[in-house]
Amino acid sequence: MVSSDQAAGADVEATALRDALCASLSLEDLGRQVRLCGWVARRREHGEHLAFVDLRDHSGIIQCVIDGSVDVRSEYVLQVTGTVRRRPEGTVNEKLTTGEIELGDCQVEVLAAAEPPPFSLDDRAEVDEQIRLRHRFLDLRRPRLQRNLRVRASVNRAIRSAMDAQGFVEVETPILWAPTPEGAREFAVPSRLHHGSFYVLPQSPQLAKQVLMVGGVDRYYQIARCMRDEDLRADRQFEFTQLDLEASFVTQEDILRFVSEAVVEAAEAATGVRPGAIPTMTWHEAIDRFGSDKPDLRVEIELSDLSALFEGSAVRAFAAPVVKALRLPGGATTTRSQLDAWTERAKAQGAGGLAWFRVVDAEGGGLGLDSPLDRFLSDEERAGILAESGAEAGDLVVCVADEWRLASEVLGELRAQLLSPPVGEGAMRYVWVVDFPMFDGTDAEGNPAAAHHPFTMPHLEDLELLETDPASVRSQAYDLVLNGWELGSGSVRIHRGDIQRRVFRALGISDEDADERFGFLLGAFRYGAPPHAGFAFGIDRLVAILVGEENIREVIAFPKTQSGTDLMTGAPSPIAPRALAELGLRPLPTTS
Ligand code: ASP
Repeated sequence: MVSSDQAAGADVEATALRDALCASLSLEDLGRQVRLCGWVARRREHGEHLAFVDLRDHSGIIQCVIDGSVDVRSEYVLQVTGTVRRRPEGTVNEKLTTGEIELGDCQVEVLAAAEPPPFSLDDRAEVDEQIRLRHRFLDLRRPRLQRNLRVRASVNRAIRSAMDAQGFVEVETPILWAPTPEGAREFAVPSRLHHGSFYVLPQSPQLAKQVLMVGGVDRYYQIARCMRDEDLRADRQFEFTQLDLEASFVTQEDILRFVSEAVVEAAEAATGVRPGAIPTMTWHEAIDRFGSDKPDLRVEIELSDLSALFEGSAVRAFAAPVVKALRLPGGATTTRSQLDAWTERAKAQGAGGLAWFRVVDAEGGGLGLDSPLDRFLSDEERAGILAESGAEAGDLVVCVADEWRLASEVLGELRAQLLSPPVGEGAMRYVWVVDFPMFDGTDAEGNPAAAHHPFTMPHLEDLELLETDPASVRSQAYDLVLNGWELGSGSVRIHRGDIQRRVFRALGISDEDADERFGFLLGAFRYGAPPHAGFAFGIDRLVAILVGEENIREVIAFPKTQSGTDLMTGAPSPIAPRALAELGLRPLPTTS
């Protein structure tokens, strides 16, 4: 990691109260008298008259030798004035960057006393997350969070300078706003001046940035807060931060280039390693080879296609449009109950089931299959399963026979779950996934649902399928994926009224609905909309992966819990009846 402190240099850190940072001192400073400020990380008594105090600031720790009679305890805030000296022979601490030195002859001034902290601030201590979040002000002092927030700041800095260098203009868009088209549940804010009316917190600046394009801004970006009232998960919070961008007179290629540049710069700023060019694959290829539209390319194993092998087979379970297989190295020891659980999961996803074959050494030499289905297989099919999947003794081959997408995705989920290494391990494998389908599944009314959002431009050569075969229309939408995580999405937008109307119709959105929800954008489009396209990617996720954190809460200063509460402030909390009345609201009588 390149620390911002190293980049900034020690002089920048000097203030009226301190001359340097704790961990900025080294053998080069021997004999120098310095004033340091920080918290007491640890105190140890040393003989009758002396004590060792580990003084901590955000840069790290230095040992200070103080008079044993001075009353300083854990987390007291101190100003220590002393002289840098070499530690006595045999007392060097290899684990500390300042392990060869200490501060001697110390004068201590207590700047603030502290109650004993409710948990250890040592990074190695396992602390319950609820306790950490309740006392986030203490948790933030831990080296891990200090590092994560600083990496995050350097990622933001790198993104801003990459966007600036590419001619983008940073524009802030409203937080009190109107519905946006991402389709998640929205947060609403009651209006005091217009009782019964609400602002909506934006799920993204989507409509605002498209209006900016009509307004001639040409290239917009923003490190934007987005709010979605969705169930929280390890990679999802109510409010999250995106690099949001939009540009005019561009194609998909241009956007991929702009975003790639920002991501590569951000990754280099965080890790010191510059990723190479980001490859592109179509959505179809991603599903076919990896069973996922966010493939983890760190895993080399791909799905194999046994459809040709089983065409016209006597095995009834394999009479389906496609038969796909996944090899799980060393998977032959998988227990029966585990296999049953996978089968149940496959059924819940809509597949008929799951077939499995343990690969074993055959009696007469070579490889054989151990499976309830084995006795139905022809020799050719048996040999084909082994050859196509590349399996070796001790592996497990799992097969799903069904429609192409379903069979691939059932196996893709197993591939991700069983073969993906933890977040911080292995290389950083970025990939652009392009040519998504225009529609994905159906909404509550049975209309096709937009795979991205309703302003996404279809592939022009697929336009005539909009009315006849919407499921096969491809869109000019693209995702950026890193190590199996979707970092973000974007699309070329529809800037022509006639195409927009056809897409709305395909989505079951009537002209009146469209006017009510997006009237101002459609109105703006009538005055000359440039062809435009954009993208947004999640900065929380990117930073989490770059620092090797599984949960985005670790890279957010004040995150909410899984149930959406802020344990430090107690939000959300009731507000006073008077404040409610001012907003024109009345609580419903409780019904229990
Ligand atoms: N607004 C979209 C999103 O947040 C991204 C985009 O299309 O630019 O997912």
